[in-house]
Amino acid sequence: MKTLRFIDDNGNSRFGTNHEDGFAHLIENGVVKNNEEKLKVVKLLPPLEPSAIFCIGLNYAAHATETGQPKPERPVVFMKNPGSVVGCFDNIILPASCREPLQVDYEVELAVVIGKHAKNVLSKDALDYVAGYTIANDVSARKWQKNGGSGQWVRGKSFDTFCPIGPEVVLTDEIIDPNNLKLQTLLNGQVMQESNTSDMIFSVEQIIEYLSEDTTLLPGTMILTGTPEGVGFTRDPAVFLKPGDRLEMTIEKIGTLVNEVV
Ligand code: ZN
Repeated sequence: MKTLRFIDDNGNSRFGTNHEDGFAHLIENGVVKNNEEKLKVVKLLPPLEPSAIFCIGLNYAAHATETGQPKPERPVVFMKNPGSVVGCFDNIILPASCREPLQVDYEVELAVVIGKHAKNVLSKDALDYVAGYTIANDVSARKWQKNGGSGQWVRGKSFDTFCPIGPEVVLTDEIIDPNNLKLQTLLNGQVMQESNTSDMIFSVEQIIEYLSEDTTLLPGTMILTGTPEGVGFTRDPAVFLKPGDRLEMTIEKIGTLVNEVV
């Protein structure tokens, strides 16, 4: 099952499913109202409001190589501000502090949504704690992530609109193995990233075991599992996002996340 959040005809924020042709069935108190008339989806919202956003850096070997970093021995963990989340078709706004020089980059990532309190979870049980999956763009201001961030990545990863997610959350009944999904980024129609989550250094299960060790992951926590090779700053010449750009990020079995840059 796929779930979405949206604004209906009356301006109410709703949860829904079976989204088709701009209409969806309502989900209320966890129950699908699928024998009632569908509601009009006036605007898509981010499919969840995450309680926390953990991110894994350098989790694809080819991406670690393109950035000049060694393959990590343990997951590289950082966080992103939940306030940076926007939905499909929302704009990515280039912050005033990131325009001169251009430095804002894209990163397609499989995002894991934790469904229940998870602490000291073993890898073999990890998927029992997952509610579903969505697509995330870990938008990154490279100057603030690197030299400008005094060694910490969080500022460069947390500006408003820097975490587009969606369009929907795909529940675990439709994705049995998250470690074998094709993913792709198109920038203005051109393929920039193309890989498979099977290339991840640490699997979804290993990441959950590592993050939940002595640490409670709250329901609604989102984990961004890292991006494959092909990001903009490692290219020659470098490619950074500019007003008018259109990003389409696709992950197999989930859908396509579309955002324009302003
Ligand atoms: Zn990332």
